[in-house]
Amino acid sequence: MPSHEIDVLQYQITQEPYYQPTGNEVALYEAAYAERLPVMVKGPTGCGKSRFIEYMAWKLKKPLITVACNEDMTASDLVGRYLLDANGTRWLDGPLTVAARIGAICYLDEVVEARQDTTVVIHPLTDHRRTLPLDKKGELVNAHADFQLVISYNPGYQSLMKDLKQSTKQRFSGLNFDYAEGAVEAAIIAKETGTDEDTAAKLVKIGATARNLKGHGLDEGISTRLLVYAARLIKQGINPNAACRMALVAPITDDADIAATLKHTIDAVF
Ligand code: ADP
Repeated sequence: MPSHEIDVLQYQITQEPYYQPTGNEVALYEAAYAERLPVMVKGPTGCGKSRFIEYMAWKLKKPLITVACNEDMTASDLVGRYLLDANGTRWLDGPLTVAARIGAICYLDEVVEARQDTTVVIHPLTDHRRTLPLDKKGELVNAHADFQLVISYNPGYQSLMKDLKQSTKQRFSGLNFDYAEGAVEAAIIAKETGTDEDTAAKLVKIGATARNLKGHGLDEGISTRLLVYAARLIKQGINPNAACRMALVAPITDDADIAATLKHTIDAVF
């Protein structure tokens, strides 16, 4: 598809996303973008990686194309494929190709989930070539000058089998993310949901306890995303205790003992 047929505006972020910086990540990202360095954002799920990339795309005024990666994803899902329609076959660009053509920031979320043959298609886009070969179509796409590739990666729960290859890793610069420190995380929850700061601080306290259980029965601690969910339920008038059980316990564990420990913590706080 010629790039002029793509509706670029749909990928533009028009409203400033709320993002609370926790260090110098904004300046670091801006420098990486200025050099068009590929960036890997690393950290546990729900700690603000995607929000950060949305914010940066808005700040840099670049379109953002996000792809949630999964294990069934093939290279064609990223690059494109021929489709059959009434007039015969028609090539349809995949999201990575669209991003390369229009000069978007392409954010591959949880890229390690994708199969390795999928991961390698990004290689020529990440080095000096900045090209994307569409083998099936016999076309070599030269990336637009504004194009940048970003991947997210959660080193925590991946098995060794699913780790990214060094040959892929070493094509990226990296920014480490983690749950924001207590007072900042409470401020994020309050700002994001409109809940009062006292409630936000209590939720953060529960989060901190659960994060200590990581590796002792929990694969991942309670994310900022889930604390935000709990705050939203409380804002709807749900009793805080019930809100926490729904948002902070049920989704993260099937283990009765761990659930009991978490419920005990909630009872002590609310
Ligand atoms: P992930 O790291 O999995 O990409 P998200 O970026 O989706 O996580 O963050 C999950 C939620 O946590 C966001 O929707 C937002 O409500 C909240 N959040 C986490 N960190 C921040 C932050 N620094 N500023 C604003 N919101 C944040």
